[in-house]
This record gives sequence, C-alpha cells and structure tokens, in this order.
Amino acid sequence: MTGTPVRLDLSSPSRGPRGKPPRHFVDLTPDERVAAVTALGEKPFRAKQLATHYFTHLTADAAAMTDLPAASRDRLVEDLFPQLLTNVRTQTADGGTTVKTLWHLFDHAKVESVLMRYANRTTLCISSQAGCGLACAFCATGQMGLTRNLSTAEIVEQVREAARALQAGEVPGGPTRLSNVVFMGMGEPLANYKAIMATVRTLVAPAPDGLGMSARNVTVSTVGMVPAMRKLADEGIPVTLALSLHAPDDELRSELVPVNTRWNVDEAIDAAHHYFEVTGRRVSIEYALIRDVNDHAWRADLLGEKLNARGKGWVHCNPIPLNPVPNSRWTASDPRVEAEFVARLRAHGIPTTVRDTRGSDIDGACGQLAAEEDE
Ligand code: SAH
Repeated sequence: MTGTPVRLDLSSPSRGPRGKPPRHFVDLTPDERVAAVTALGEKPFRAKQLATHYFTHLTADAAAMTDLPAASRDRLVEDLFPQLLTNVRTQTADGGTTVKTLWHLFDHAKVESVLMRYANRTTLCISSQAGCGLACAFCATGQMGLTRNLSTAEIVEQVREAARALQAGEVPGGPTRLSNVVFMGMGEPLANYKAIMATVRTLVAPAPDGLGMSARNVTVSTVGMVPAMRKLADEGIPVTLALSLHAPDDELRSELVPVNTRWNVDEAIDAAHHYFEVTGRRVSIEYALIRDVNDHAWRADLLGEKLNARGKGWVHCNPIPLNPVPNSRWTASDPRVEAEFVARLRAHGIPTTVRDTRGSDIDGACGQLAAEEDE
C-alpha cells in the first residue's frame, strides 16, 4: 500500500455545497427537450435547432445560434445550457498534441480530462466521478476519496469541449474530429452507471441528438464491478470494455485493488468473458506493471492460463508501465522485466500491447489525475 493519502483535504475551501448540478439540455430526453422548449414559450422545433447547435456545431453559445431570434436564443441558452464546466487550467505536452484540462464544476468539485492526438486518431480520456471511492493502491485518484458522481451533462460537456477544440483547429495538426473516448480519467464509471450509460447513448446517437460516434471507439474501463459488467453486456451497445486486473491472484489483487475482496479475480474475468460472449467485442485487460510487485514471469503465465481457460481470441492485454504518483514507493518495472512479461503473455497466445504513457510529464497519464491546483 502507498501509506497516507496525500491529496485528501476536507478543509479545502474549494469544496462547495453538495447538490445536483443545474438542469442541462443534455440531461433531457428528446421529448423532454421539446417540453422544456415549449415551457419557455418557444415553438417545439427549436429543440431540434438547439440539438444541432450543441451536437453538430458543438456550441452552447447563444451568439452563434443565428438561425434563432435573438431574444429566444438568449432565453433558451440561459435556461437550458447553464455553464457546468469552468476551465481553470490547461497543460500541454507532446508539442501541444496532449492537452490536460482541469475543470471546476458548479459546486467547485474538480475533475480533469486529457485529449491525445495521434497520427490516425484522437482520444479523449474523461472523468465520470470527482475523485473515486475505490482506493486502488497505486492510483492518485484513488487516494483522494470520492467527492461525487458527475451528471450526464457534466461528462458529455467534457467531450463536447474537446470535439469543439479539435473542430476549431486549436490542437496542432489541423481541424479534425474526435474519434475515441475512454472512461479512464477520474472515477469508476460503473459506479456511476446511469449517468455513464446515458453518456454513451448520447455519444453514439446520430446527429442531431448525439455526437454520432462509433460505439467500438468508446471504451468503458472498470475496476471489475461484476454485476454492472453483466448489465452492460445486456445494453445492446457494443462499447469496448476494459477490465483493470493488475494481478492474476487474489492475494495480491486484494492488496492493489481493494474491491477484489467483493468480486475476485475469477469472477471479474468471468464477467469480462461474458461481455465478449454477448457482444462479440474483444475485451482489454489492463495491467499496471509495478516493479517487483506484480511483474513476475510466473504472474504473466498465470494470467495467460486464466485467460485461455475461458477461450481463445476473446481478449487482449494492455500492460501499462506504472505512472508514478506522489508519496508512493512504487515505480515502473525494469524494461527487461516488462519485455519478459509481454513475451510470456504472447507465448500464451494473448495479443499484448504496452500502453503508451502519454501525458505523464504533465501528470496526465493513467492513474495520475488528482485535480490538484497550485502545485
Ligand atoms: N476506474 C476505472 C478507470 C481508472 S483509470 C478502472 O479502474 O478501470 C484507467 C486505468 O489506469 C485503470 O486500469 C487503472 O487501474 C490504471 N491506473 C491507475 N493508476 C495507475 C498508475 N499510477 N499507473 C498506471 N496505470 C494506472
């Protein structure tokens, strides 16, 4: 374990009153949007115009909605598009192609999102909760504890803002689209199931009611909340599922990932395999490689055996070199040890790709998001 939590400060003045964020257009169903618009004395078709501005033009700025009468758009935007996210800091790396943004929410809870532009895709890593209650030993967010779940609109707003920045050409490389979204920022998405499912539906809904993304390009990463994984399988939306395993044996996993005492290694792998069976989508197994903690060759072999025991071709592995978090004595594996771990998995026939550590120099890589200000 990493010892004392370092970033939990209950006296912080930035912790505002608890409560729900104000109502936002994104939180409403298409029918509710029409009802909300007519309740403001506007014609029903205004709902569709607003949806087009939001999801296609990626704007919630009244001034940009020139096809609506000025008085109407001011009233509609004020009522239906309250500002949910306030950008308090942007940090960049990799020549501006990695962008980490710290957001304040309406109650001053804080979250981060990280945009990464690659040659052939753009990936946004989003937060689903402020903080996280699952206390994984090696994760900076886990050391903060949970502040609260985000609403659907608070999650979707992270995506809209990144898509807008890309469309506007603000990220070096020319204007482009957002192609991928991963729930690998702060929080455990399956612990905020309703809001993340509504987010997923919004991301994949065709215009004008959503962003029209491909479900396979949306990745839900979970610590292994087994009942929710099974429920996700039945939603009929083939998102990519990633399971954060980090150890193939219960003794070590319970130390690294405390929720393992509730749903153990075999139950988590079974649920991941069930997801593949139902959706046909190959599941990712995430495995942060921690020097001398979980990087032993025998653990690679045990992992390969456990995955193969469920079948072939249903899974691939993503070892992640541990990203350092403050006050931890743990560090990434020796490169030779990492190479051996990967080779063992491949020898078992498990496709294996080491995750890059983009953003680690701005504390924007996996497990480093702690939404700290004034560092
Ligand atoms: N709660 C979700 C999302 C967490 S972040 C989950 O558990 O899957 C995405 C991935 O980063 C997870 O696999 C998480 O275990 C991993 N991670 C956390 N801290 C890390 C660190 N310090 N270095 C590398 N990966 C880390």
